[in-house]
Amino acid sequence: MSRIASVLLPLPLPEAFDYAEPEGMALALGDQVAAPLGPNLLRGVVVGLREAAGGNRALKPVQGRLEEAALPASTLEFVQWAARYAVDAPGQPLAIALRGARAPKPKPLRVIEPTGRAPVRPTPARTRVLTAVGAGAASGAALARLAGVSAGVVKALIDEGVLALRTAAPQLGFDAPDAARAGAALNASQAAAAAELRAMARAGGFQVALLDGVTGSGKTEVYLESVAAALAADPEAQALILLPEIALTQAVIDRVAARFGAAPGEWHSDVVPPARRRVWEGVIGGGCRIVVGARSALFLPFRRLKLIVVDEEHDASFKQEEGFIYHARDMAVARGKIEAALVVLASATPSLETLRNAETGRYRWLTLADRHGAARLPAIDLVDLRETPPEPGRWLSPPLVTAMGETLAAGEQTLLFLNRRGYAPLVLCRACGERMTAPDTDSWLVEHRYSGRLVCHLTGFSMPKPTQCPHCGVRDSLISIGPGVERVEEEARQLFPEARIAVFSSDTAFDAREGKRLIEAMAAGEIDILVATQAAAKGHNFPKLTLVGVVDADLGLRGGDLRAAERTYQLLAQATGRAGRRERPGRALLQTYAPDHPVMQALQVQDRDAFVAAEMAEREAAGLPPFGRLAAVIASDVDAARLDTFMRRMAEAAPNAPGVEVYGPADAPLGLVRGRRRKRFLVRADRGVDLSAYMAAWRARVRPPGALRLSIDMDPYSFL
Ligand code: ADP
Repeated sequence: MSRIASVLLPLPLPEAFDYAEPEGMALALGDQVAAPLGPNLLRGVVVGLREAAGGNRALKPVQGRLEEAALPASTLEFVQWAARYAVDAPGQPLAIALRGARAPKPKPLRVIEPTGRAPVRPTPARTRVLTAVGAGAASGAALARLAGVSAGVVKALIDEGVLALRTAAPQLGFDAPDAARAGAALNASQAAAAAELRAMARAGGFQVALLDGVTGSGKTEVYLESVAAALAADPEAQALILLPEIALTQAVIDRVAARFGAAPGEWHSDVVPPARRRVWEGVIGGGCRIVVGARSALFLPFRRLKLIVVDEEHDASFKQEEGFIYHARDMAVARGKIEAALVVLASATPSLETLRNAETGRYRWLTLADRHGAARLPAIDLVDLRETPPEPGRWLSPPLVTAMGETLAAGEQTLLFLNRRGYAPLVLCRACGERMTAPDTDSWLVEHRYSGRLVCHLTGFSMPKPTQCPHCGVRDSLISIGPGVERVEEEARQLFPEARIAVFSSDTAFDAREGKRLIEAMAAGEIDILVATQAAAKGHNFPKLTLVGVVDADLGLRGGDLRAAERTYQLLAQATGRAGRRERPGRALLQTYAPDHPVMQALQVQDRDAFVAAEMAEREAAGLPPFGRLAAVIASDVDAARLDTFMRRMAEAAPNAPGVEVYGPADAPLGLVRGRRRKRFLVRADRGVDLSAYMAAWRARVRPPGALRLSIDMDPYSFL
């Protein structure tokens, strides 16, 4: 009897396609195959096999099985579950799961090495080559460049047998982590939390724990104990540690390597393709037992995933907003359930969603009350900008400047936190009032002085800063409004010319290596004042940092999305939490125009519980998360009239369901992006409603015109 293989392709298609299984191919579920689609051959995954009662001749055959290993059943189940939850095509998460399979294999390494033979004539040029050879040049030309000699010198040394070109096999496997190695000696509250986590890991099965501890309480030390326990309990178990920022992965990778004596697999968008391929093979083969990565690591095809740690679980960076839209923390819990794994969510400022689950007993709630050792939480003071404003055109208030001077004099470090890249968030014309905006997009152009350009942070559009106003033509009339990190750096340099000052933002820490370099320089005390966006405000330990200045504490409160207060609280608690590690007491100064705002009050007295209780009560009254559920529909089209018509039709098509309210259509706050008009619906539902099913039913009732883009965002975090 012939069989039909249902093959899922990593494309945004609504379902898997049927193909004929060629005679003798003996396909199995999860197999990766080459499948024809139109004129192309595509990589796909077998997700169904059935006998073809009437034969399978009418179908195109699968072309062949690919050499890469079959996806584990649990990975396939997770991919399909994730797509259903997100109301998206299963090919979308599948594409993420297959990213490493499509990357090129690591290539053999070519290195030039000394053979040990001495050169016949040791000229200065030859000596330079022999000194430079240790750097590991991969070709004669590279070595010549390194040594500053002509290629002929290197060639002569190779011909003479002094140097040899060798090919080394690339490192493919992973060293086995040693789970029995001793970790740090834990303090009492760490030991209690670690004992619970170890017991949960040993017991096996799906469970979720919240590891709730103030910054510096040793959460990392404690969750590494759960990794050790999971690895020790099962010789094939694998563990995944998810972090919200690439910049944070490096420090955790180093700590994992130190704790287990073996480097973990590293997975994020800055990892080069052959290295990704190595991790992907290690994960599916089982040899890679610990992965440290950013959110997409959650879709790796683990063979035996027994533990998922989501560090800084409250962080909004876990939400992927483009392409396949998902929240990696929520998806981690779902994957944990499918894999029967332990999930550990760690944070000093847990999300209200997670706190609610802990309060109701769905998650085990483990707390670390104090900082480790002698370290104390910083004292937090509010600087009322109405009373002590900075000088005109400046951004640092007198109390903050005084504190910075004292910190510098004591040989300690300051972190100035401002969550705004560039020099100024707005450029306008003094003559005609024109605001510089991106063409075809509703957003201001941000001035970047390092590059001399005006940049749209939404679309990446940029242009040189014009010398005259493009609207009225007046020369030298463009002025910069408001501060970004570059402008605060400029002010700090004017105030403290002798200080060593650096900026940390995605512009200066443009990749993982550069970010690591800056973090290490800060940790080593080579920087006196670091002006940083949120990328450096989280997770790091800077032993000599004793002052955190928050330049604009009110920034996150503007804009009014549902989580504005929660996010501001979390971000500022994280940022101020950088101060005062080790024995040095720290302090934090928050510059604000709203010192009476509940967020500022809660931060000052460091009363998280009071803040959370007030915020929970508001959410509960409004039926908002975590007490209700939200979904958004975002549609965009170059043709505004066509968009309007479609959105009206979509509004009429909304199914009636108890406990579900549909708001909209409304113009999106960002009404125009890249020439496309944007409109939104917001849907609120009671907790018990299967909102994914509702959204899928709604989506199925409408057929958007071809040029219109429609996306569904479950649990939206952005309301733009
Ligand atoms: P968190 O993740 O809660 O911010 P970390 O695990 O990074 O805290 O710990 C903060 C600092 O304290 C780190 O430098 C860490 O090495 C140190 N530390 C925490 N617990 C211990 C311990 N039991 N023994 C020694 N050092 C510790």
